[in-house]
Amino acid sequence: MRAALVTAPGRLAVETVADPSPAADGVVVKVRSCGICGTDLHLVDGELGTDRFPLVPGHEPWGEIVAVGRSATGFAVGELVAVDPSLHCGACDPCRRGQGNMCQRWGAIGATRPGAWAEFTAVPVANLHRLGDDFPLDAVALAEPVACAVRGLRRLNPRADEPAVIFGAGTMGLVLAILLDLQGVGPVTVVDINPARRELAARLTGAAVCGSAEGLRARWVIEATGNPAAFEAALACVDRAGTLLVFGVANPLATAAISPYRVYADELTIVGSMAILHSFPPAIATIRRHADRFAPLVTDAFGLDDIEAALTLVRSGKTIKTLITP
Ligand SMILES: [Zn+2]
Ligand SMILES: [Zn+2]
Repeated sequence: MRAALVTAPGRLAVETVADPSPAADGVVVKVRSCGICGTDLHLVDGELGTDRFPLVPGHEPWGEIVAVGRSATGFAVGELVAVDPSLHCGACDPCRRGQGNMCQRWGAIGATRPGAWAEFTAVPVANLHRLGDDFPLDAVALAEPVACAVRGLRRLNPRADEPAVIFGAGTMGLVLAILLDLQGVGPVTVVDINPARRELAARLTGAAVCGSAEGLRARWVIEATGNPAAFEAALACVDRAGTLLVFGVANPLATAAISPYRVYADELTIVGSMAILHSFPPAIATIRRHADRFAPLVTDAFGLDDIEAALTLVRSGKTIKTLITP
C-alpha cells in the first residue's frame, strides 16, 4: 500500500510499504479520510521525540473494515467505523481506576504505532465505533477532535445560560464553541488576534468574537491556544468562583505567571484535559444529531501524494480541518 512515512524530523515521504494485516483481536480499515491536526505537525517536526521514527502519522481516521482478525468479534467486513486512536494498557493503576488517558503505558495509533496517513491501517476492535449506514459522512472526520472537546467540557462542567469565553479560534476553539452552544452555555465569546479566524468563528459557531480579552469576564473560560501569554490572559478573565479549562497544548518547557492570592480570594478552579476519556461515543452521537453544525468545519481535502501541500496549508492557519483522503 501507499503510506506517508516520517523517517527523520521534518522528513516526510509517500512510499510503498507492506499492507497491514489484522491482529487477532483487530481489523484492517481502508481509510476514507484522516484529519491533520496541530499534534501531527509537532510529531512530523520531531518535537515529540524521534525514537518512534520511522512512523506513519494519522490519528483521526474513519473508513471501511476490509479484514477481520481470527478472534475479533462484533465487527464485519464492509462496516463503516470511526477510530478512537487511544491505546490504554488496561492493567496499570490509572487504567484500573478508569483513567485510561493517564495510562502509564499510554500510546496512540498514529503516534506510537502506525497511523492512517495510508491506504490501510490496523486497529484493535476495542478502538472501533460503528457508524451504520445512515451516518452523516460529511462530518464524521471530526469524531476524534469532538471526542477531545467533549472530554474537555466534562472537566469544565459549565452551567447553561452563563457566559463563557474561549481563547483561540482554531479548529478546537470552534468545536468547543459549537459544543457549548449545543449545551445551552452562553453567551459564548471567542478571542483571537487573527481577524480572518475571528470572522470564521463568528460565521460557523454563532459566537461573539473579540480581538482582545480586555474587560471580558466569565464564569467559564477555556484556553485553546497553547500559548502561555493566552493562559495568563485567560486566567485574568475568569470571574469569581469561576473555572479555567487548560485545553491547548503548550510547549512542555513553557511557564506562566499566576497570582496565588487571586486563586485563593476568588476561589478559582483550574482544570486540565488530556485527549479522550470515555468521550468517543458521545462525540459520535453529537455529530450524528448535529452534522449541519460540524460539517462546515471540514474545509480542505488532499490525496496522499499531496501530503506536503496539505501540511503547508495547515501550517499557514488558513484552514479549519484539512483531511488526507488516501
Ligand atoms: Zn488530533
Ligand atoms: Zn494503563
